[in-house]
Amino acid sequence: MRAARMDKEQQLLTILEIAKIVAMERDLDRMIQGLLRCLVERLDVIDAGVLLIYDPTDGRLTVKAAQGYDFALLQHIRLAPGEAVSGIAFENGQTQLYTTPEAIAAARENMSPDNRERFARATLGLPQVQSALSVPLITGQSKLGVLLLENWREPHAFGPSDLTFFQHVADLIALSVENFRLREELQAAQALSEANRLKAELISTLAHEMRTPLTSIKGYSTALLMEEASFSPETQREFLEIIDQECDVLQDLIHDLLESSIIDAGFLKLEVQPVLLPRLVKMVVDDMARRSRRHRLVVDFPEDFPLVEADPDRIMQVLRNLLDNAIKYSPNGGLVVVRGEVRPDHVVISVADQGVGIAPEHLNRLFEKFFRIRSGLGRHVVGSGLGLPIARTIVESHGGQIWAESQVDQGSTFYFTLPLSEPNLDRTDEE
Ligand code: ADP
Repeated sequence: MRAARMDKEQQLLTILEIAKIVAMERDLDRMIQGLLRCLVERLDVIDAGVLLIYDPTDGRLTVKAAQGYDFALLQHIRLAPGEAVSGIAFENGQTQLYTTPEAIAAARENMSPDNRERFARATLGLPQVQSALSVPLITGQSKLGVLLLENWREPHAFGPSDLTFFQHVADLIALSVENFRLREELQAAQALSEANRLKAELISTLAHEMRTPLTSIKGYSTALLMEEASFSPETQREFLEIIDQECDVLQDLIHDLLESSIIDAGFLKLEVQPVLLPRLVKMVVDDMARRSRRHRLVVDFPEDFPLVEADPDRIMQVLRNLLDNAIKYSPNGGLVVVRGEVRPDHVVISVADQGVGIAPEHLNRLFEKFFRIRSGLGRHVVGSGLGLPIARTIVESHGGQIWAESQVDQGSTFYFTLPLSEPNLDRTDEE
């Protein structure tokens, strides 16, 4: 007795549902999984199905979705073109119909020992496949993968009259997979061109960014060197201080640019050691304090602040970036507070200023490479748009998080956390 044959209505309903899944699903893996589930649930003749996609980087077919099998076990199978039931259909680009278990076993003869072992594990305890259909997924010139459908109950469950219908189904699936790929490529290209645009913009503004401090360095040093002018010692000192500050600005800018590659890598190799953060913060703050007389820098850490496992140089870099911004973006001066707080399993360091603040729509973008807010400040603030992304890479490489809170015209607070290697259990709420 043959399994119930598909009637035209069943076929039509299946095609309609496939079209619906293709139209609604936004995620490629979920779409493939949904398509396969639809086929197995709707069509009585199918007991199990596997969808394999060709990965051109390693020249193998890998399982992207499975019904009737444990997907996790099948995932390790990587078939070469020509290998086993699916590999054969993929290589010759023709639908393969297998009507007996013997024919299927013969097609699997050439399976590599590794795949054979993984396949045995994935099919352990399952009924033997009696009849199968493997349909290549092809669009235009490109072969994308294979749709494998199985009947576990009787030989000849699939017959030659089924081929056209399943080829239509496979064409639909192939088209939608290709569409997804094209959409992803387009999005990647758009993201790249956005990054390139920002980069090009940065390079074109960088000349200006560098020229601003250079102009004042040149101006003040030329003035000091003029033989006919005689400046009072106070004025001379003032000029030298300005030159010194502008050199710092230039140095930071160049430093950020050189460091920008760490953002692309996304992580850092850290030289971790036990660090006394209050002392580290004090060092950075003392160094920064000389940059501005208009700001009052305050350090606020509890007495028994625990040792933290961190890379001291990198954490100093984060603090310098945050403090530098706190000073740069509060042109009227004010208080800058660096605070340390201890939580059960991490510490939180914050840098708060009373500056221009950040609008809510910009808060999340601050940590993107090259992102800079068009300054509402009266004067131009020199910067690379790299300080915060660098800080984020460093903090995240330590297993911490970084974020900002702010109110326009009131000030901003930047927070970052660092994990404690040993949870601070004796710390309770009353502390
Ligand atoms: P840069 O300061 O070199 O432009 P950052 O990555 O350090 O680059 O900062 C990105 C942007 O975030 C800055 O251009 C600025 O608009 C905004 N920003 C950063 N810190 C502050 C702050 N403390 N107050 C207000 N705006 C800030």
